[in-house]
Amino acid sequence: MTATIIDGKLFAAGVRARVADHVARLKEESGITPGLACVLVGDNPASEIYVRNKGKQTVEAGMHSFQHKLPAETSQEQLLALIEQLNTDPSVNGILVQLPLPGHLDESLVINAIAPEKDVDGFHIQNVGRLATGQEAMVPCTPLGCLMMLRDLHGSLSGLNAVVVGRSNIVGKPMAQLLLRESCTVTIAHSRTKDLQAVCRQADILVAAVGRTKMITSDYVKEGATVIDVGINRIEKPDGKTGLVGDVDFESVSPRAGAITPVPGGVGPMTIACLLVNTLTAACRTHGLPEPK
Ligand code: NDP
Repeated sequence: MTATIIDGKLFAAGVRARVADHVARLKEESGITPGLACVLVGDNPASEIYVRNKGKQTVEAGMHSFQHKLPAETSQEQLLALIEQLNTDPSVNGILVQLPLPGHLDESLVINAIAPEKDVDGFHIQNVGRLATGQEAMVPCTPLGCLMMLRDLHGSLSGLNAVVVGRSNIVGKPMAQLLLRESCTVTIAHSRTKDLQAVCRQADILVAAVGRTKMITSDYVKEGATVIDVGINRIEKPDGKTGLVGDVDFESVSPRAGAITPVPGGVGPMTIACLLVNTLTAACRTHGLPEPK
């Protein structure tokens, strides 16, 4: 058996095209152009690339992109003042503060200063609580992207055994909440889990969000399972160049799995696509208009 390769790049292109269509209709029918503000503090090269890509794709979808680049020595008060200004700016529907922040800034204080309805990353404590209690929420982009691909593949996820390896606030926990909302039977595994292989082999859906290069081998995978690889690990290749690999050992797992996301080209492209979805959703909610599906 050879697994279906889930083409995240293609899937994300479809999501972006649907967002762009919806944005065009919104402009035409209501005169509204959604806007996303990205705030970057300091000069982390990876963060700069992420923020640039987010801005580019926002504009390509027909939305306004506002980029705020602040120096590394920006004080907490200065950052909070900018967030307050964006909170009250009606042209800004989504606010994203690129993480990690420099060490002298309190990430959770900063994230919780964002107006919850503009918190397109879904990290505000109110959105976390709303997701956990089944209320309308902004959902973190990476798990949302994973869920969209899973729904597309399976239709209903009800009753499936899902194992999420990783319990971070940005991936593992919200992923588990979303799968629970879909009526999966959910197990969250982490570094203290006993006999992780046996736990993972119970999974119809296995989500790896660990941050460990190729840790999930075929020994962790039930025959025919759907394997979602969230991991992005930078490695040096034999030719001295760097490359990206996932948390899943694609070569050993793909002959055993039913479906699998590759790295790169799987979950990664869906993250920014879902950021655009969330920005459009935020704009629609603000104006009481139908949300993107
Ligand atoms: P974190 O480092 O915050 O969390 C990693 C989790 O994996 C922790 O819960 C940790 O357990 C668990 N873990 C670590 N080692 C083991 C082990 N040996 N066995 C079982 N569990 C283990 O990472 P993130 O959640 O932020 O990210 C996970 C991966 O996803 C990373 O590779 C990251 O780059 C990638 N990522 C990709 C995104 C995308 O767009 N595709 C977006 C965000 C992240 P414990 O809690 O016990 O320490």
